[in-house]
Amino acid sequence: MIRDLERMNKGSYDLLVIGGGINGASIAHLAARAGFSVALLEKGDFASGTSSKSTKLIHGGLRYLENLEIDLVYESLKERKLQLKAAPHLVRPLAFVIPVYEGDKRPLWMMRFGVFLYDLIAGPYKVGPHQSLSKEKVLELEPGLEKEGLKGGVLYHDAQMDDARLCLENVLSADAAGAHVANYAKVTDYLRENGRVTGVRAVDLLSRKTFGVCAKRIIVAGGPWSNELLRLDDPKAPEKVRTTKGIHIVYRDKLSNHALFIPSKSDKRIFFVIPWLGHSLIGTTDTDYRGSADDVKVEPADVAYLMNETRRVFPRSDLSEGKILSTFAGLRPLVKQGGSASKVSRKHLFYRSPSGVIFVVGGKYTTYRKVAEDCLKRVFKKRDCPSWQKTGTDPFSAEAFQVCGSGSFVESDKDVSCRPGLDTDVVRELEGRYGSRSREILKMCEESPALGQKVSNDPPVIKAQLVYAVRNEMARTVEDITERRLPLSYLGPVPESVLSAAGEVLEMAARGNLPACGQIGAGSDNRRKKGTGRRDER
Ligand code: FAD
Repeated sequence: MIRDLERMNKGSYDLLVIGGGINGASIAHLAARAGFSVALLEKGDFASGTSSKSTKLIHGGLRYLENLEIDLVYESLKERKLQLKAAPHLVRPLAFVIPVYEGDKRPLWMMRFGVFLYDLIAGPYKVGPHQSLSKEKVLELEPGLEKEGLKGGVLYHDAQMDDARLCLENVLSADAAGAHVANYAKVTDYLRENGRVTGVRAVDLLSRKTFGVCAKRIIVAGGPWSNELLRLDDPKAPEKVRTTKGIHIVYRDKLSNHALFIPSKSDKRIFFVIPWLGHSLIGTTDTDYRGSADDVKVEPADVAYLMNETRRVFPRSDLSEGKILSTFAGLRPLVKQGGSASKVSRKHLFYRSPSGVIFVVGGKYTTYRKVAEDCLKRVFKKRDCPSWQKTGTDPFSAEAFQVCGSGSFVESDKDVSCRPGLDTDVVRELEGRYGSRSREILKMCEESPALGQKVSNDPPVIKAQLVYAVRNEMARTVEDITERRLPLSYLGPVPESVLSAAGEVLEMAARGNLPACGQIGAGSDNRRKKGTGRRDER
């Protein structure tokens, strides 16, 4: 993937997408595949906003049934099935258990009916069968749970994903389909002709140079920054997005065998305890946020709320703040609506400003492909669309959707063990993270065996992955590598061996010593900078 801002400066595109979170990445991907010339500008790293701060679920959202949002749940369940197929290395089925206690707001019969309805709505898109569980069965599945007051429970299925990498896969797929993409490229103003926006002015945050990009159509997928980007177009425009903050804790112990869906006692909300990377992901909160989207952070009260609620359901686990590996905060970019934060709909809509810019508002990660499809159908007419004209088939539809790293290549343990020089856990890890593109990393190791050297054991990471992140995946800072190309920053302090090897690779790239590296323009002060400050190490 080449970051060439000079090329963008000279170019004029059918479509410019602002924002490289999941929605922007997917819009660029689908549009480029349909034959349009596309540019994508992201002010931080890809997925550095909300799209790496989610609960990492591709789900229908059982709790949206309570709000009677059947259409949203159905759409999400359909997309869930599609994502399991489109990116099987990054989206995997996950079994959930809901323990129900005496006095819970949602009694056992309601939970049983809820999971029955959930699977009924899913129909052919169901992932696995739901079950009703006795108290004894709940405790057999999850022995750490509080016994007192337990009435029973239910089991159902959804899916878990790697949010940062799924976004990156969409960027890589957009690039593979011909889009021009750049991270660390911040839009600072719109260019206009006769009252219509015809392009943007932007700044390369690595070199501090400014440049312009012209396009016939402009879509803003700015997530929680959307109001800011709207005001840049029209200072008097009313806000379209309501931002609510959600935080997560990465806890060292694996508290449960299944994902747990737990009603909180203090405010009756739902929170999750999910097995993640050998540890537990605990989240989330949902509180209105009025500050700058750049400054969102985890507050001690957020951590106390989640720890207290988790302690209540795991009374014998001796939960301690000392075992928190990291915490992170993100902002939901919801459609501006009144009412309590957790009741605001997760549906998406589009707003066209008087100057012709289209803004994506709302949605959830799960429905990103549908958001992109709906958006592009709104922006392009049949007559505009090269592949529509050629084949007569809808170029944005789900049928052929997949990301370029999808699929698997390791068929059996025999295949794994016949990769000379690499441990089995490394090969498994590569396949899980890169899907079919892991072949490229294995090839690098074959050509240069030193790249197969491990720089971390848990999870296993080899040098080739660091080179690949910079050369093929446009990582420009150490944090891009340790936080989004790989999830190391969430697991406590990143090993010094990784930090120094990553720094070395970035230095080599800056000197042009990584073969086929494209333009690596990072100044050395950027290479170890802290990015958004929204993930706190403990
Ligand atoms: P973002 O990912 O925030 O992307 C917007 C991008 O625009 C940012 O990267 C930003 O840097 C860029 N940008 C801003 N200004 C500029 C500029 N001037 N120039 C260039 N670029 C700019 N959904 C689910 O389906 N499942 C879940 O489990 C789930 N859990 C969640 C948990 C939490 C705590 C939160 C907050 C959300 C969760 N969601 C979940 C919702 C989901 O994460 C979001 O709906 C989704 O990530 C939004 O993506 P986006 O692309 O719209 O926004």
